[in-house]
Amino acid sequence: MAVDLRDPLRSVLGSILDEVRDRTDGEVASYIPELAKADPRALGIALASTHGVVHEAGDSAVEFTIQSVSKPFVFALALDALGLEEVTRHVGLEPSGEPFNAISLDEASGRPLNPMINAGAIVTSSLIPGDTADEKFARIRAGLQAFAGRELDVDEAVFASEAATGDRNRALAYLTRSAGTLASTAEIATTAYFRQCSLTVTARDLAIMAATLATGGVNPVTGERVVGEDAARWTTAVMTSCGMYDASGDWLVRVGLPAKSGVGGGIVALQPGQFGIGTFSPPLDARGNSVRGVAMLEALSSQSGLHLLRHR
Ligand code: GLU
Repeated sequence: MAVDLRDPLRSVLGSILDEVRDRTDGEVASYIPELAKADPRALGIALASTHGVVHEAGDSAVEFTIQSVSKPFVFALALDALGLEEVTRHVGLEPSGEPFNAISLDEASGRPLNPMINAGAIVTSSLIPGDTADEKFARIRAGLQAFAGRELDVDEAVFASEAATGDRNRALAYLTRSAGTLASTAEIATTAYFRQCSLTVTARDLAIMAATLATGGVNPVTGERVVGEDAARWTTAVMTSCGMYDASGDWLVRVGLPAKSGVGGGIVALQPGQFGIGTFSPPLDARGNSVRGVAMLEALSSQSGLHLLRHR
């Protein structure tokens, strides 16, 4: 790819796309039937600086469902509304080392281990203020829109597909309800959670959302304060330890950036004080992380020396 003199970073992102474009391993998610319709060739990346400048390459404007990439942002909204103490009475902060949909609760406290696995994310959605699923979802949507700096739609087909097949998530909701950690009925929590996962975003949106955490809670494009600095920092910490499913430890060594992936093929990553990144490529590895998304972030991290724990 020729160097774009007006936007050299765009050229860097373009060459990262070129590096991973030919990889064909991984499978598009199909356990939510509607997700199987995603185009496996779609490939995009965007980077937003904490000054609000956005660089993009490839399919960075293609919409897909946010899925689990929503989890850290909803966690940040819950922290902002209720504080760390109240939120952690319901959900823990420990890596689980287990798959995203594991039936796992801390035995002594009845809490899901962290807010990045489904059990913890459903509890987090239940904590968002509101008496009905509609009220909770309206708060969630408004919050994610503030993170992205634009209106976000629901993919009704994906929502219907997940609602029709989401019994494992319902089971997690009933389990946490019986343990006393779910803050609403199971039906209200799962409906809000399924709608949250069905919001559509682009890689550009994800980059801006991550950059909003990187600034400490202010959307760098719109200038709006979305969450407080503490909520942004606590959320970033949990992304660092738990964001990449049961590959989180491996990710921290190889890429070294707080991140969160989703089964729609999106990944967000950020470097506090510097930038947010969004990637999109639907085929997933066995743990549910986008194969080419991981490869792009690995390449970017090693080529540009972005590892959080680098010495200089
Ligand atoms: N809505 C999906 C589920 O709960 C999200 C999973 C994911 O992206 O990890 O199964």
